[in-house]
Amino acid sequence: MAVPKRKTTPSRRGMRRAHDRLKLVRPGECSNCGETKLPHHMCGKCGFYKDRQVLDISSDA
Ligand SMILES: [Zn+2]
Repeated sequence: MAVPKRKTTPSRRGMRRAHDRLKLVRPGECSNCGETKLPHHMCGKCGFYKDRQVLDISSDA
């Protein structure tokens, strides 16, 4: 079985993991109501996606 010759130091481990961080989610704006929403997702406030109504949420609120 292959075994590492040296122990990975905490510093080396940290350097290796420096690129592992996930990118931050960049919120977009709803084109209908201007509310912040996730890209490629329906707007949670007005139910719009791609400039059209995809879910009617006028009943509650
Ligand atoms: Zn909206």
